[in-house]
Amino acid sequence: MQRVIIIGGGIIGLSTAYYLSKAGAEVTVLDKGMMDDNCSFGNAGMIVPSHFVPLAAPGMIEQGIRWMFDSKSPFYVRPSLSRDLFLWGYKFMKSATKANVTRAAEPLRDLSLLSRSLYNELAKENGFDFGLKNNGILMLYKTQKAGEEEIHQDEKAKALGLDVEVLSAGQASALQPQLKLDVTGAVHYRCDSHLAPHVLMQQLTAYLEAAGVKISRGNEVIKIDHEQGKITNIHTHTDTFQADEVVIAGGAWSPAITKLAGLNVPVMPGKGYSFMYNEPLERMHIAALLMEARVSVTPMANQIRFGGTMELGPMNNKVNMNRVRGIIEAIPKYFPDLSPAMPEEGKIWHGFRPCSPDGLPYIGRAGKYKNLLVAGGHGMMGLSLGPVTGKLITELITGEKLSIPIDAFSTDRYL
Ligand SMILES: Cc1cc2nc3c(=O)[nH]c(=O)nc-3n(C[C@H](O)[C@H](O)[C@H](O)COP(=O)(O)OP(=O)(O)OC[C@H]3O[C@@H](n4cnc5c(N)ncnc54)[C@H](O)[C@@H]3O)c2cc1C
Repeated sequence: MQRVIIIGGGIIGLSTAYYLSKAGAEVTVLDKGMMDDNCSFGNAGMIVPSHFVPLAAPGMIEQGIRWMFDSKSPFYVRPSLSRDLFLWGYKFMKSATKANVTRAAEPLRDLSLLSRSLYNELAKENGFDFGLKNNGILMLYKTQKAGEEEIHQDEKAKALGLDVEVLSAGQASALQPQLKLDVTGAVHYRCDSHLAPHVLMQQLTAYLEAAGVKISRGNEVIKIDHEQGKITNIHTHTDTFQADEVVIAGGAWSPAITKLAGLNVPVMPGKGYSFMYNEPLERMHIAALLMEARVSVTPMANQIRFGGTMELGPMNNKVNMNRVRGIIEAIPKYFPDLSPAMPEEGKIWHGFRPCSPDGLPYIGRAGKYKNLLVAGGHGMMGLSLGPVTGKLITELITGEKLSIPIDAFSTDRYL
């Protein structure tokens, strides 16, 4: 039986533990926190084959610079003297090309579609009921400019074989007739889904512990030893572990962990916020993205989770209330029936998206070692891509044939 240590208990680490444990491995998950509030809990819960364009796309830099001067803007690079941010930004700029976007589309589509079907399998297992709904996501727009961009994207999506439909404002309203909608039009990505991520994370943790996976909370990895191309010891403040294979799934903290093994895997935290809103009438059942405002809207039972903003820069836990206000002000512009009050600071969740410079995840073996794998850098799509990442990492460890090619996601691409 193979002994595997997974560093990080977010959706990526836990999905990996799930498939490894099914394959018969002896799995230990080490997490520095209590695994009740990492980035995998408060996100928007969207499963997004629609996101075949990585964050590093032409136009993002100009948009980012314009938005830097707006305190309520949804995308922001926090000016900093950080060397890591500078180096990351340089790589991001080099990646934000049309060629990169074209190259990334099919690999991202294949990852997402497989992940979505794995979520559907998981939802049928005993002990799982995490509100998975396969009724798509509505990209809602108000301005002609955003509409043109969305319709252009829709053509690309159709060329990739995705199930997408352009809707008039009336057709979009008819999907949820009890909820007022004020938009110019919408694109309905029927290929997308949504779920309640905090419920999924709790059920996955309970399932894994019942299946014999050891989960060690409050146990931060601080040192990694290696000898002759092999990881030998994993040290935390109190313990030392050995394993046949080690998986680094540390989310936005991954660069610090990979650095312990002498690797350069660039990831920049992209802070985002979310909060819950009671909607007992349950008028909404399809998740939506408010395109101009970059706000996510996800129904979760008799509540709605609103989310947004991307603040790129070295990690800090400060809640920027101006940006939360930007989210609040956008909502009634699209849904006149919904006007949430400004939440208290303590009720606002924040998390750090693990953003790679080219917008693609890292999934694979680290070439420098015989027994080290990296699963991270999923940025805005980590929840969506959890199961497929876990399955692929498991296939690499067990030596099975890979379900899909992973060349685009090489962990060594910035060495
Ligand atoms: C507002 C917002 C909305 C989002 N919406 C969506 C969405 O709709 N769909 C989607 O697909 N994605 C979404 N995302 C992104 C998604 O949440 C992330 O990509 C995903 O949660 C990352 O998972 P992870 O397992 O890599 O990292 P995390 O969930 O952050 O887990 C990493 C874990 O590693 C642990 N760790 C770190 N360092 C160490 C160490 N040294 N030793 C031990 N443990 C360590 C941490 O404690 C943490 O628990 C959203 C993100 C935000 C912020």
